[in-house]
Amino acid sequence: MSENTPPQIKDLLLEKEVQPLFKATLSGGMANIFGALLIYTLLSSTDHKVEALWISGTIILFSLVRIVVANDYQTRNAFQLREYLYTHLLLTLTIGLTWAVYIYILHKPEDAAIRNIAYLMNFGMIAGSITTLSTYRPAYLSYSLPQLAAIFVVFVMIGTPTSYLVAFAVLLSTTFMISASFNINRIHKNEVQLTYNNELLITNLNSEIGHRESVQRELEASKRDLEVKVKERTKDLVETNTSLERVIEKKEMAEQSLQYLAYHDELTGLPNRNLLVDRVGQAIKSSSRDKQQLAILFLDLDRFKNINDSLGHSVGDRLLQEVSSRLFKTLREQDTISRNGGDEFVIVLERLKDTNEAVNVAKKIINCLTETFDIQSHKIHIGASIGISIYPTDGDSPLVLLRNADTAMYRAKQAGGNQLQFYDQSMSSQLRDRLELESELHNALENDEFYLVYQPQVNCINNKTTGFESLLRWNNNKYGQIGPDRFVPLLEETGLIYAVGEWVVSEVARFIRDHQIHDVTFSINLSALQCNNLAFVDYVEKVINKAAINPAQIEFEITETLLIKDFEKTNLFLTKMHSIGCTIALDDFGTGYTSMTYLARLPIDIIKIDKSLIRDIDKHENLKSIVKAIVTMSTSLGMKNIFEGIETNEELSVIKKMSGYIIQGYLISKPIAEEEVDDWLSLDVEEKLAYKKA
Ligand code: C2E
Ligand code: CA
Ligand code: CA
Repeated sequence: MSENTPPQIKDLLLEKEVQPLFKATLSGGMANIFGALLIYTLLSSTDHKVEALWISGTIILFSLVRIVVANDYQTRNAFQLREYLYTHLLLTLTIGLTWAVYIYILHKPEDAAIRNIAYLMNFGMIAGSITTLSTYRPAYLSYSLPQLAAIFVVFVMIGTPTSYLVAFAVLLSTTFMISASFNINRIHKNEVQLTYNNELLITNLNSEIGHRESVQRELEASKRDLEVKVKERTKDLVETNTSLERVIEKKEMAEQSLQYLAYHDELTGLPNRNLLVDRVGQAIKSSSRDKQQLAILFLDLDRFKNINDSLGHSVGDRLLQEVSSRLFKTLREQDTISRNGGDEFVIVLERLKDTNEAVNVAKKIINCLTETFDIQSHKIHIGASIGISIYPTDGDSPLVLLRNADTAMYRAKQAGGNQLQFYDQSMSSQLRDRLELESELHNALENDEFYLVYQPQVNCINNKTTGFESLLRWNNNKYGQIGPDRFVPLLEETGLIYAVGEWVVSEVARFIRDHQIHDVTFSINLSALQCNNLAFVDYVEKVINKAAINPAQIEFEITETLLIKDFEKTNLFLTKMHSIGCTIALDDFGTGYTSMTYLARLPIDIIKIDKSLIRDIDKHENLKSIVKAIVTMSTSLGMKNIFEGIETNEELSVIKKMSGYIIQGYLISKPIAEEEVDDWLSLDVEEKLAYKKA
């Protein structure tokens, strides 16, 4: 037992130790009673009869009392353990001492034989009590030591050599018996301790097992919980994943369609001008490597405009599709056919043996297109004018070759149509026309031949006008009205675009100031060249300050091609423009191919969806999904949309469903003259709708 064993455990161990002591009290007591009776019997015939009666009586009495105490402990246990134990010890000591007195008295009897019998019996009882008293060391000592001491003293007092020897033997056996008793005591104590430890171990083990079992149960319960949660989460994840995959698929499809649209003509599925320029470039490279000729056939249908105007768009569209399929059948597989826009087609013939081959192909085309078309029960007759340019004779770049073929086509048309015409450098009257036009253009600004018209942009939910797009017009003294599609490229080529561009800005600013217009934006178209010129931003700022108008009322429209050409420069220009308070719109979106990552990095506020995507959107599902994708992307980039070129109510209702609301198109109004703008702004909803009809 260690020092720090708690007192209650000490008591417990003591109890277990001394239990055998109480148990053996009856047998020990009986031994003493019989011993006392025997000695009395031996002494009853001697002089010591009276003392013997007293002493034997005392021993018997105390032995009986001790038996009663031990029995009380075992049966009733009414007092503390230590009370019983010390009473027992006291009684044992008394018995031992009484025996010692007895032994001392006996040293004198005349009869040595009686004495020796008595001493032997004492010895026997002392030895026997090793088994009954050793479990409690003080008990054994208090019983044996007085008696042994008395025997020892008696033999020393006898004083003979033999008695000395006996005394010595008594001493020796005392040592042996005490050590034997102590050994038994130690073994007994160890046993008790061991049993106790084992019990403790078992109790601990049991409680440990119990604890583990409950932990195990908790673990299993939480494992089951977890499994349920994992299952739920997995299900959620799988669902999210599938819906994400669907979204990605849709987005990819939309992007693919956009990509396709960027290089193909929606109506006929033929390559468009972008792809054509690319293909011609490649053809030029391989022709120059192989020292081969190639021909560009520029084809324009005769009378197409009349048919479109008289029979309607849908017939016109069907006709264009028919034309493209006839061209397909007539031409070889390796020839490129593309639609240039409107009723213009371009055919590229590679690896020409001679120019005659180009003539033959052109004739075949004209023949196949002169045959009657049967469209929606209309019998339609058209013709085709074809201009031809040859590489390397008529140019060595795609644009030059295309322009020259175009010039030749124009000649064919002027000559009455339905014929082919080779490009002829020396006699290019178109070129001359162009030069004429160019020189006219140089004086147009001074002569005040330019003016602006304004096309309203309207919120189709409440029919409020949100803005106007300013569109440039040229009324030339000599040639009359010339469309922007013709003169804007010339302005760019001649560099006049800078001066004219500045004029447009000052004109718009003046208009806003003079008419005191607020809360309505005016957008201004910019050509790519202007966006390379940072000084233009300073000019705009100056004009806005001078006119004292809100810079947020001025919006600039730029085109996609610009973004792709020089991203960093454009970004700088747009950021500067943005910083003076003007907004930026991306024009004609959907005709080129701009990566969304570009857009996200530019300060663009509005994306104008091109009219080619709006045209007949109610009839074409793929247009719908493309426009939807554009709207979604714009919204996610925090940009607004303007839907351009809305001509019908059907188109409008599709756009409305996509929650598009700023619209611009003939359905609302064609571009109006500046004198009409004030009127327009003062009209209410119904009047506006009536206005466009008038
Ligand atoms: P844009 O910027 O795409 O202008 C829109 C064109 O679509 C305008 O033709 C407009 O009249 C036309 N439009 C509007 N609504 C409809 C519709 O519902 N259906 C149809 N079929 N067309 C509609 P416009 O005025 O002939 O201008 C042609 C292009 O000339 C413009 O295309 C723009 O790129 C350029 N442009 C016009 N003014 C300027 C200018 O001041 N500066 C520069 N750099 N370019 C200009
Ligand atoms: Ca525009
Ligand atoms: Ca546009």
